[in-house]
Formats: sequence, structure tokens, C-alpha cells
Amino acid sequence: MTDAHHKTNTAKHTAGLDPEGSSCDLFGMPEPGVVRLAGGLGTFVPDDLFVDADIRLVEFLDQEKCRRWVISQIHREGPACPYCRVVIEGVRRLWRFWTGERLTCRDCGRFFTATTGSFISGIQMSPRELFLLALLFSLGVTDTRISGILGRSVETVRLWRRRFKAIEAAE
Ligand SMILES: [Zn+2]
Repeated sequence: MTDAHHKTNTAKHTAGLDPEGSSCDLFGMPEPGVVRLAGGLGTFVPDDLFVDADIRLVEFLDQEKCRRWVISQIHREGPACPYCRVVIEGVRRLWRFWTGERLTCRDCGRFFTATTGSFISGIQMSPRELFLLALLFSLGVTDTRISGILGRSVETVRLWRRRFKAIEAAE
């Protein structure tokens, strides 16, 4: 935690404990509505998520769930070979499919993974990053902010915005 961050927190404590509740006027609240804080304990506000550069938001997401979500989006009709469309069956083969492992088609004999032939085939982004990217776009966050959150260049973020727009337009 930085010094600046600590000072902010101390200031918040003082404001919150103000018996007159005058600090609440700053936020346009009609009633004093004093926020009672437990002595000695910390607080946080949404922007604290961005104070510490070591916090990588993508790590707060569940890898498995994000991967399944991404794969289920590109295989809306269920697991199938991307070449001959034969349905994938069997616990072990389905497990390989959903974890992004390579499979051999029993029908056409070709190799593939769940992302083969899709618009995210061969990209350098993890399912967690793609999920977070989609979430931030849908919430209207700016490209510059998304670039900072993901640790990716603004150009990469812009490219993805254009890519999603093109898909939306085609739908
Ligand atoms: Zn096949």
C-alpha cells in the first residue's frame, strides 16, 4: 500500500467518524447519515482496485468458467469437429474439448481444438482476458482504461473493439 493510498484511507476514516456528519454533505446526501466505521479497520472504495499496479483483475476470474463460456459461444450447437461437424462424444474426449486440448476427429481424422477455425483461433489472449475484455466493452469502459486494466496496448484493445463491431454488424 502506498503512502498516498494510506493517507486517503485515514482521511476517509476521519470523514466517516465525523459526529456531525457534515462530510456527507459533500456527497449531496440530505441527511447526515453518518457512516460508522469499526475503529482501526481499513476501508476500500472501487478505485482502490486500480491503485496497486500489482493487482491483475484477470486473476480474479475463474479460468475454467471463462474458458467454458468462450468455447460454448463459438460452439453454440455443442461440441463438434470444426471440419466435418461430427458430434464429439465420450467423457474423455469431451473433457479434452472443454479444456482446449487437441483432439483427432474419429470421422475425418483431422486434428483440432475447441477454438480451431473460430475467430479466436491462434490469438494471444487467454479466455479470462477475452471474458474481461468483453465485460469491459459491454460496460462502456474506454480503450485507454481497458488497456491499463488488461496490460495490453491500446492498439490491441482497438483491434478487438473493431473485431467485435464487425461481428455485431454481420449478425
Ligand atoms: Zn471431423
